[in-house]
Amino acid sequence: MEMSVRQENSDGAYGSMQDYLFPEKHSWSRKDRNKVPGPQRKLEKLLNQPGNKICADCGSPDPKWVSLSHGVYICIKCSGVHRSLGVHISKVLSIKLDEWTDEQVSCFIELGGNIAANKKYEACLPDECRKPKPDASIEERVEFIRRKYELLQFLGTSDNVTSSHRPQRTSSSSQTSSSQEKKPFDKQATRHRIGNALRNSWARKEAEYKYPKKSSSMAGMVEFIGLIKVNVVRGTNLAIRDVVSSDPYVIIALGHQSVRTRVIKNNLNPVWNESLMLSIPEQIPPLKLLVYDKDTFSTDDFMGEAEIDIQPLVAAAKAYETSSVTESTQLGKWVASKDNTLVQDGVITLIDGMVKQDISLRLQNVERGVLEIELECVPLTQ
Ligand SMILES: [Zn+2]
Repeated sequence: MEMSVRQENSDGAYGSMQDYLFPEKHSWSRKDRNKVPGPQRKLEKLLNQPGNKICADCGSPDPKWVSLSHGVYICIKCSGVHRSLGVHISKVLSIKLDEWTDEQVSCFIELGGNIAANKKYEACLPDECRKPKPDASIEERVEFIRRKYELLQFLGTSDNVTSSHRPQRTSSSSQTSSSQEKKPFDKQATRHRIGNALRNSWARKEAEYKYPKKSSSMAGMVEFIGLIKVNVVRGTNLAIRDVVSSDPYVIIALGHQSVRTRVIKNNLNPVWNESLMLSIPEQIPPLKLLVYDKDTFSTDDFMGEAEIDIQPLVAAAKAYETSSVTESTQLGKWVASKDNTLVQDGVITLIDGMVKQDISLRLQNVERGVLEIELECVPLTQ
């Protein structure tokens, strides 16, 4: 498994799957977590308007996510479906957990919220097509959300209905490079609205014709049960892969998703302090950490790996999701021993309602090196 991740990474094939399943790289700095920045405040104002207090797709109360592409507030379950359609169909952001640019906020507000969006995307909702309810199955959600936003089967046809942002399908090369993620929401799309509206009305007719009752692509659909934030703190005494040093970076993989830290040049004791977020699939795979040395002209060199079972952390987060305990509480620990790779016990704590685990690991399949990370399970209701 480690081998396949490495190969997929080196030949770039991993990129497409990763973009498909998890197009976003969430990153934010720790010091900002408690203050709500200006742009986000505007979003919360819009959230309080009627129509935006329930998920635009299934009606679940108190949605905490949005589709930037369609201007809707959605619940975590629907956000997982949106995300799995790919960023070219729906770009998903968290209201609180992501850092928004002013431009993203303006674009989102301009789209008008749930009522405006549903007026457009559900204008021609047939009587026999029922919207999913808050307790709908993943299949019902996937079918409805695909028909609504990807196939545009319910889109209004009047002149005032225009297509939203529909960026072109991007190639697998759009990995999680920060330059691309930070790219502001594409404004050019508005210029092509009329053309898109025409194409979409055609696509809709075609889709009505072709779209089967159950799409085969649903078979691969994974339901996400939450999010894990991985703060890659630092590496210590890492292996030398260049002449006297290395240019290390870390790949974090969970199932089919992977994200990576930035490269720190010429440093065997790098401090990344970089937070990355991954969705947790229902069947929780181990979290894999792979350290590489960045080489400009050849394949990156392997600098060790580690594997973490995050199930105890997720279980603790589930158990304490609604806890009102405010003082820091130890919930459990992964005990360091000769048989595992821990440098010290990996203690799971509840701090300010968040369930966290600090882990310090000896890297495996390498001559030396220790990696320190902090895990945080984002409450599943976020
Ligand atoms: Zn929903």
